[in-house]
Amino acid sequence: GVGLSAYPVPEWKKDVCVAALSFRQSSKLSIQDQRKSLPIYKLKKELLQAVHDNQVLVVVGETGSGKTTQVTQYLAEAGYTTSGKIGCTQPRRVAATSVAKRVAEEFGCRVGEEVGYAIRFDDHTCADTVIKYMTDGMLMTEMLIDENLSQYSIIMLDEAHERTLHTDILFGLLKRLVRRRPDLRLIITSATLDAEKFSGYFFSCNIFTIPGRTFPVEILYAIQPKSDYLEAAVTTVMEIHLTEPEGDILVFLTGEDEIDHACQCLREKMKGLGKNVPELITLKAHSALPSEILFRIFDPAPPGKRKVVVATNIAEASLTIDGIYYVIDSGFAKQNVYNPKQGLESLVITPISQASAKQRAGRAGRTGPGKCYRLYTESAFHNEMSPTPIPEIQRINLGLATLNMKAIGINDLLSFDFMDSPSPQALISAMEQLYSLGALDEEGLLTRLGRKMAEFPMEPPLSKMLLASVDLGCSDEILTIVAMIQAGHVFHRPGEKQTQADQKRAKFFQPQGDHLTLLAVYEAWKAKGFSKPWCRENFVQSESLKRAQDVRKQLISLMDKYKLDIVSAGKNDWKIRKAITAGFFFHAAKKDPQEGYRTLVENQPVYIHPSSVLFERKPDWVIYNELVMTTKEYMREVIVVDPKWLVEVAPRFFKVADLTKMSKRKRQERIEPLYDRYHEPNSWRSSRRRA
Ligand code: ADP
Ligand code: MG
Repeated sequence: GVGLSAYPVPEWKKDVCVAALSFRQSSKLSIQDQRKSLPIYKLKKELLQAVHDNQVLVVVGETGSGKTTQVTQYLAEAGYTTSGKIGCTQPRRVAATSVAKRVAEEFGCRVGEEVGYAIRFDDHTCADTVIKYMTDGMLMTEMLIDENLSQYSIIMLDEAHERTLHTDILFGLLKRLVRRRPDLRLIITSATLDAEKFSGYFFSCNIFTIPGRTFPVEILYAIQPKSDYLEAAVTTVMEIHLTEPEGDILVFLTGEDEIDHACQCLREKMKGLGKNVPELITLKAHSALPSEILFRIFDPAPPGKRKVVVATNIAEASLTIDGIYYVIDSGFAKQNVYNPKQGLESLVITPISQASAKQRAGRAGRTGPGKCYRLYTESAFHNEMSPTPIPEIQRINLGLATLNMKAIGINDLLSFDFMDSPSPQALISAMEQLYSLGALDEEGLLTRLGRKMAEFPMEPPLSKMLLASVDLGCSDEILTIVAMIQAGHVFHRPGEKQTQADQKRAKFFQPQGDHLTLLAVYEAWKAKGFSKPWCRENFVQSESLKRAQDVRKQLISLMDKYKLDIVSAGKNDWKIRKAITAGFFFHAAKKDPQEGYRTLVENQPVYIHPSSVLFERKPDWVIYNELVMTTKEYMREVIVVDPKWLVEVAPRFFKVADLTKMSKRKRQERIEPLYDRYHEPNSWRSSRRRA
């Protein structure tokens, strides 16, 4: 047997919360009986009546009560699909696909038939589709084409409490639309107590509440702050597995890397314990996983075995896994944070809000009384976590949102009726970015280039780079690079085989930079007939490449639709680098004579990431794809550029300093960004004149 001494038992402080006892749900029910056992089922008639009587309705209920999967089906049964489709938005791609698959199964069709989904780069709907799940971003894109959404009879803005950027903008757009279209019904659903706020914003509409059915969840706080939540999470999983009664475990970490690492540690620890211990099935849940793999989290563990799902916050509210009795909450999540002053956006590990912590804990109380292990102290919960999350619109780059809104015809963004307004500074800097990219004119109106950019569902620098590549004659390569950038981690570097992995990776290195290296990987994979074994041999993540291939295909169909040429640069890789410059000139950096680099925009010290091909060579001028902050501010995916290009591709942004007096070499070095505009408040108008 196994002595507990192998795992130091952390000390926990107990605090019982949530109590509304009810019966225990059996997991052996048929799919239709499962539907009937959901809390919302008993209220079906009342709910349909409320939808009938109210053009706009807010629906609140605990996660797992059946809002997402059932409401659409009830509405379809009640005949709302005779006059149009039922559209249901989800903040996350994985939620849209997994829910659609589940609902199709319940509905008795294949996904893509009556029940379908549409997410960016992946449309699974047909002419017969009546229930359509989609990301909120997709509905935004549909509004670009048809601002009246005339195909729909009902729109359900689901998981509205997540307050994603797109949901927030849709709030404003749909508020206008319901006045224009009295026949359109709007349902806003939320898992939390924001209902009053939503109702207040939507003409004080009625709120329909689904009473909760949750079991008590015992909250255990760490007595000491944990210096390493990953290690603490792994230890706690093992402790639960070895000492607690049956029931599955859900662990919240922040991202793919952490999840991979934790799963590896868990497998190693289990291996070390030998065969006397019940099996622990480790499963991952994050958005970069292909859905066949992600879906394994829904499979019940076989008798005598326990499953542990290690997840990002996609499992916080959008996905409900039955059978979870234990939740381990790291207290952190990765958030996109934008600094409008620097014009930089980065994924940052941030403490979650108290509302999220409660939501996470609640996941343990759906099947029976559960336990939630918080890997932080009670005082951290009260003093370091904000009560509710900050809406995305107030913290991220608004470039794409601004472009979309302009394309819908909303020109005066500063007076748009937002539920919570973004800061004027953030809107202004988004407009400035679009102006520099050539998407807006001097008056802040959409240009022809801007309209084309809006057709591509991606951040403006990427769509600009793609359109520039058409003119430069390298769109074939740029398509691949765009797809590879969006596909996530490409190189796999397992702990025990790092040197081997690095050697394999080095074979793909392209002297002019990492974007070209990514291109080389894709080309090599393609030459091997998109082979999976090839990926394994070369330490390349086949899932990422598969995703890149999908994205590439979707982009090609968009290119065909808008009659944009797909041409190869051949041997002229400068064309590719110049096209990248056309989109990412904001990310230019110049070698600092002392050490490292300085960004042109803010003169901020930055360094080439050790994983880059340019780490040793350190060319004078580079452009990076993103900055990651670890011990230093590192540039990831870096290419060599010619500084002349900056002035050529971004004349509204850069000028050459003092042209006449300097030597050619000096001139090249003295390209200065026109970036002092951020030092003046409210500089949108005035900067136009200067630029
Ligand atoms: P809500 O939107 O109120 O949070 P849902 O409608 O998402 O609730 O979930 C209702 C039930 O459907 C949950 O018990 C959940 O376990 C189940 N469910 C949802 N998706 C799947 C799936 N892909 N596989 C199995 N069960 C699922
Ligand atoms: Mg839901």
